[in-house]
Amino acid sequence: MPERVALAMARPAVYHRAPEFAEILLDCAAKLRRLFKTAEPVVVLAASATGGMEAAVANLLGPGESAVVVRGGKFGERWGDLCTAYGVPFEAVDVEWGRAVDPAAVDAALAKSRAKAVLVQASETSTGAKHPVEALGPICRARDALLVVDGVTAVGCFDVPMDGWGIDCLVVGSQKALMLPPGLCAVALSSRGREALERSKHPRYYFDLRKELKNQEKGQTAFTPATSLVVGLREALTMIEEEGLEAVFARHARCAAATRAGARGLGLELFADRPTEACTAIRVPAGVDGSALVKHARERWGVTIAGGQDRLKGKIIRLAHLGWAADFDVLTALAVVELALADLGHAVQPGAGVGAAEAVLRA
Ligand SMILES: *Cc1c(COP(=O)(O)O)cnc(C)c1O
Repeated sequence: MPERVALAMARPAVYHRAPEFAEILLDCAAKLRRLFKTAEPVVVLAASATGGMEAAVANLLGPGESAVVVRGGKFGERWGDLCTAYGVPFEAVDVEWGRAVDPAAVDAALAKSRAKAVLVQASETSTGAKHPVEALGPICRARDALLVVDGVTAVGCFDVPMDGWGIDCLVVGSQKALMLPPGLCAVALSSRGREALERSKHPRYYFDLRKELKNQEKGQTAFTPATSLVVGLREALTMIEEEGLEAVFARHARCAAATRAGARGLGLELFADRPTEACTAIRVPAGVDGSALVKHARERWGVTIAGGQDRLKGKIIRLAHLGWAADFDVLTALAVVELALADLGHAVQPGAGVGAAEAVLRA
């Protein structure tokens, strides 16, 4: 988290029913629309991104309506779990973890199920893979289904033009590319999405997006907002606009390219076939326990890297380069992978990863 964001949040709390807060919230919405590249309304909710995902399922689908769920990792599974919780039947498009979904498989699932919505991740953080969301908009239109996208670790990392790609609902969370502490999410809805939420008969209360849309149009929220996080959000979005959206995407692309080159330089294999710019998932070499590697990196070298979740536990490590991250975060992460691998008895050539990354960063 940038110091500027921390300092903005440290200022005395603003009263959420005062004009000053309404102005801040409206400014956040305008900046989020520019970040999402949409003319549609965006609402901010006091919840982690899973709350935004739940709001999407609760508001956009109705009892008896079905969905197509792309399951290529932990977060894809979460869409399925949410459908189950709301009694929404779904056709799963199961993708081998680490792979990107084939748009033709989504089309086939829609044809078979006549589902009302497709639920997908733009960037599946758990595997480091990027799904081709840009190809799904026309497919969803042709089959009269809503395209609902979990944009956490995508929006703010690479271009996700909501209107240009035909996305009907786009969800983001605060603690990833938005450079904030956890606790906020934002949800944008197209006109087709807004029609669906009027139609839905699902019970809704805190996550009733009809109420939030009406209130937030005027800079109000239906319930008490997380004011300090909203103040931080404005500062973070201001920083993104100062750097320039295209420059932000270019920084992510450069850091991602350098990290991938570094991994290859160490003789390691990338896990994802179509890697996201948010983080790089790397296969742990045979004979090394990935969980031990993560623990050792933290305890011996004081650097936190992520391991794999669930069935990938111990098998991959993930190096983050999203949000408040730049060249030296990449070099630090690669250096610690080199050091920890060597400490755990895996033969590495010192500097091979860092050197390969430097070559990309200097280009
Ligand atoms: C982090 C993340 C989420 C949100 O998880 P929370 O625990 O609710 O913050 C959702 N989707 C993806 C792809 C993520 O990376």
